[in-house]
Amino acid sequence: MVQAIDILVSNDEIRLEGVSGLYATEPWGLKEQAEFKNACIEISTSLEPEGLLEACLETEARLDRTRDVRWGPRTIDLDILAMEDVAIDIDGLTIPHSRLHERAFALVPMADLAPDLKIEGQSVSELLKKQDRSGVKQIAAPGEWIEISGNRA
Ligand code: ATP
Ligand code: CA
Ligand code: CA
Repeated sequence: MVQAIDILVSNDEIRLEGVSGLYATEPWGLKEQAEFKNACIEISTSLEPEGLLEACLETEARLDRTRDVRWGPRTIDLDILAMEDVAIDIDGLTIPHSRLHERAFALVPMADLAPDLKIEGQSVSELLKKQDRSGVKQIAAPGEWIEISGNRA
């Protein structure tokens, strides 16, 4: 995950603004597999949504991401959860992410950075209140697993 963030923000058009805690999370969608780790970053970017998705997919490819089983184990997964003032639903790209509102594993780290951010009218913290967050355990606090400094910031 640290490597992925480094690759992503080495792009001149992406600047890292914040990093959430690091969480160990119960698998979602396909229960019979090992736990996942999840975190959220905040960036500023001059890229359009499509360009940012491309940067995410390229970063995944560099870290040997393959797509075998839907919602199965993977080396890395970079999803765009939300972008300020962007609502888009085209083939291959939906922002806000279409399953964000039902995923404590995404909402919990997102709430570290942007609890008041509105997702289709409801704040991240309001959405989180409706979710069972018992399967999401913090294993490192924000700032304790990755440094935001040097060329990362
Ligand atoms: P999920 O989307 O349920 O989290 P996943 O991340 O495992 O599942 P992937 O195989 O990584 O699914 O992604 C499939 C496709 O989803 C990507 O190739 C991309 O085109 C598309 N996609 C649509 N919206 C987004 C988004 N907001 N962020 C990232 N990918 C998206
Ligand atoms: Ca995903
Ligand atoms: Ca994905």
